[in-house]
Amino acid sequence: MTASRGYAAQTAKAPMAPHAFERRAPGPKDIHIEIAYCGVCHSDLHQVRDEWGGAIFPMVPGHEIVGTVTAVGSDVKKFKVGDRAGVGCLVESCRTCDNCVEHQEQYCTGGATFTYNGRDKDGAPTYGGYANDIVVDEAFALTIPAGLDLAAVAPLLCAGITTYSPLRHWNVKAGQKVGVVGLGGLGHMALKFAKAFGAHVVQFTTSANKVEDAKRLGADDVVMSNDDAAMKAHAGTFDFILDTVSAPHDVMQFIGLLRRDGTMTLVGVPEKPPVVHPFVLIGARRSLAGSLIGGLAETQEMLDFCGTHGITSDIELIAMKDIDASFERMLKGDVKYRFVIDLATLDA
Ligand code: NAP
Ligand code: ZN
Ligand code: ZN
Repeated sequence: MTASRGYAAQTAKAPMAPHAFERRAPGPKDIHIEIAYCGVCHSDLHQVRDEWGGAIFPMVPGHEIVGTVTAVGSDVKKFKVGDRAGVGCLVESCRTCDNCVEHQEQYCTGGATFTYNGRDKDGAPTYGGYANDIVVDEAFALTIPAGLDLAAVAPLLCAGITTYSPLRHWNVKAGQKVGVVGLGGLGHMALKFAKAFGAHVVQFTTSANKVEDAKRLGADDVVMSNDDAAMKAHAGTFDFILDTVSAPHDVMQFIGLLRRDGTMTLVGVPEKPPVVHPFVLIGARRSLAGSLIGGLAETQEMLDFCGTHGITSDIELIAMKDIDASFERMLKGDVKYRFVIDLATLDA
């Protein structure tokens, strides 16, 4: 066993606090990573507070993990000691179902193993990246392109792939009008990718203080979603809209902005389900869809795309002890645009 140190929630109401735990000893196909940085995803907050149900405590969150390989098993081919490596939301899957064979491990019908708040094949709980280290099968570890700032790469492992994957799946490209709802961790990556794919991108926000930033990040237009006249001006014009909002909100006001046959895809997971009247879909044969992170191959493709195009996340580096305060700021939408924990501060 590997003695690990991290920060955990002991219950849904407890603050985050130092926590010692054990990981499996690295096997022949495993790599051991000393974690340098871990992004703070809104899913971490939903899960430590058990907003989705089924939480396993104590919970060490974190699935935007980057660091340095410190040991490799005898059968490991992709990594050597000293390499930079990343781990996202998945650490295992059945590897044999149709979805796994088609490199869509996130949809594994046998049940993918999530990086934390999940269970390994032997039933042991998984623990995430708010910790000093992680042990992972090399098949579920990612290679980090050279030249990108490691701390700013961390959020790509979840916020990056979760937005890249649907934009690719629905074939977002030049000549299209694309909307991004919510300018947070996911939203700002969606904006960067949709622009990089050549689309005309409109950012929707509820925060007046993010309007100028959205333009700096590449938005062709920014709309305050509580401005009825501004919303109406875009009615029936969008090819695709990606909704990244973390709290209950009116999704119908965005679906109505789609043109005929347009698609709105939900990636945000508010605590309560949205209300959708069939007429808003029927009226223009619109689709409402959802998308979960991305498979390992596509995550590597996304990282390589970021390496080629110089894309990373806009981050604010935080100390481990400030995690609860950072959760509170995240709840208020006060993040520009991803908190990343500097694990060098773990014991401070
Ligand atoms: P985040 O950084 O907190 O951003 C969420 C944004 O939503 C906020 O910045 C805010 O943007 C907007 N928002 C918040 N409350 C709102 C409200 N009441 N009404 C309207 N807009 C509101 O969160 P994140 O890390 O990007 O995650 C977003 C959601 O995606 C979370 O629910 C998370 O669990 C989920 N998620 C899903 C997947 C997946 O695979 N599908 C993967 C990762 C995360 P403005 O200030 O611009 O309005
Ligand atoms: Zn996440
Ligand atoms: Zn599978």
